[in-house]
Amino acid sequence: MKQMFINGNFTSGRAKEAIQVINPATEDIIDEVPRGTTADVESAVSAAANAFESWKRVPAWERAGMLHEVAAKIKKHEDELAHLLTVEEGKPYVENKEEVFWTYDTFHYYAELGRHERGRFLPPGDPDQINFVIKEPYGVAGCIIPWNYPLLLLSWKLAPALAAGNTVVIKPSEYTPLSTLRLVEIAFGHLPPGVVNVVTGYGPEAGEALVEHPQVPLIAFTGSVKTGQRIASIAAPLMKKLHLELGGKDPMVLAPDVADTIGMETAVSAVAYAGLLNTGQVCTSSERIYVPQTFYSRFSEELADFVGNLRLGNGLSPQIDIGPMLRNHFRENVERQVAEAQGYGAQLLVGGKRPSALPQGFFLEPAVLVNVNHDMTIMREETFGPVLPIMPYKNFDEAIQLANDTRFGLGASLMTRDARLVKRFYEEVKAGTIWINDPLTDNFAGPFGGMKMTGGGRELGQEGLDEFYEVKHIHWDVEGKLKEYWYPYGQ
Ligand code: NAD
Repeated sequence: MKQMFINGNFTSGRAKEAIQVINPATEDIIDEVPRGTTADVESAVSAAANAFESWKRVPAWERAGMLHEVAAKIKKHEDELAHLLTVEEGKPYVENKEEVFWTYDTFHYYAELGRHERGRFLPPGDPDQINFVIKEPYGVAGCIIPWNYPLLLLSWKLAPALAAGNTVVIKPSEYTPLSTLRLVEIAFGHLPPGVVNVVTGYGPEAGEALVEHPQVPLIAFTGSVKTGQRIASIAAPLMKKLHLELGGKDPMVLAPDVADTIGMETAVSAVAYAGLLNTGQVCTSSERIYVPQTFYSRFSEELADFVGNLRLGNGLSPQIDIGPMLRNHFRENVERQVAEAQGYGAQLLVGGKRPSALPQGFFLEPAVLVNVNHDMTIMREETFGPVLPIMPYKNFDEAIQLANDTRFGLGASLMTRDARLVKRFYEEVKAGTIWINDPLTDNFAGPFGGMKMTGGGRELGQEGLDEFYEVKHIHWDVEGKLKEYWYPYGQ
């Protein structure tokens, strides 16, 4: 059994029970972690609060050096970490190599951004005054992480939180705690004890204990809308700073010019990648595909051909494109949505079945679904699985109206070479990220996050660092003379 990481030590804490970690490709139990308790959260928060008093005073350049070292240590172990991610989360090894790269480079990025950061001077409000703004860390940041990108999404919080001078208590997903524990073991030994702590456990137990803790002023959370709402309801009366990155139902629109400009082959490839990466278990998966009526049938058939040829299997095999889903109940949810849509007239062109060649593991053949509409759950609620539902549209006005017909606002993609359509799309579609012709790419330098029910948090870029600072405006009258506008009035 692995152990939690509290105050610089690996420990089982007060946990009396274990949580089993399962390989989704084989259903084998690969390890166990402690089922962390409120008392473990208490120890971790108390260690982090103690460590904060000195960590916040470490000069930014020195913290930067330590974060660069974190990045270098992760890089040294990238193959091992990618392997571990594949075994506990299931996506193909090649995708996990990418995840580890983005993870360590996030530490490099925030090491640099953090060392340049402090605040700003303002034009004085009075000739005797000096006005300036300083940025200060909050204290102990509680970071609650989902399972689909366990290290990447951790780094998007951990790197800026540390660069800003906060200390951290991490609650990884109960499904994928092993990569986080190994990351901490590999990369954080040179940091003072208590600066980074990990408590494993279930959301309603360890997770809520962290959200409720009076010494945790900030909660940075990525996960489902339902959990985000629960966290917000606990945090609101306590006036905690919340940073919420929640679910999505991203649209992908193929513009009318695509058939003649970008071409069907490229469009098919782009849509398959955008919808099926990580078996469709990406918050920004394209889950609604809108195609002009003029080439709807042709595109759907070509996409079904392409998707039917993708190879399923264990993510450790280099011969596969798509891994398993994380657990059976997530697979069943996808099957339910597909069956409901079929009940209302949708048609499966390919996939949607459990592959007979892979009886072990939570595999589901990637599916292409046509004749869908917005009354169906599959076009309204997050699916988080390998399904591409395609709907025709008559003109670009309708495409934009359909893209916006959702309660989520994470990302939106457009394929086109028509600059006028690009401008309309990014101005009129309500989503935190807009991708034109290159869906699901990341860039450290720019913010990532959502609108509407996806929550308003931003990660990456300057915005991602600012989430971890409180600001103070200092008004300093250097003369200290009596002011005529003080009491008594009229003199
Ligand atoms: P989840 O909400 O079930 O769990 C996320 C984390 O919250 C886990 O660590 C879990 O243990 C914890 N948790 C659960 N209940 C809790 C509670 N009551 N109090 C405190 N913590 C609690 O989500 P998941 O299934 O791990 O992840 C998938 C979801 O995450 C999807 O909805 C996906 O869209 C979303 N997601 C969003 C982004 C983004 O950047 N917007 C990125 C990745 C995933």
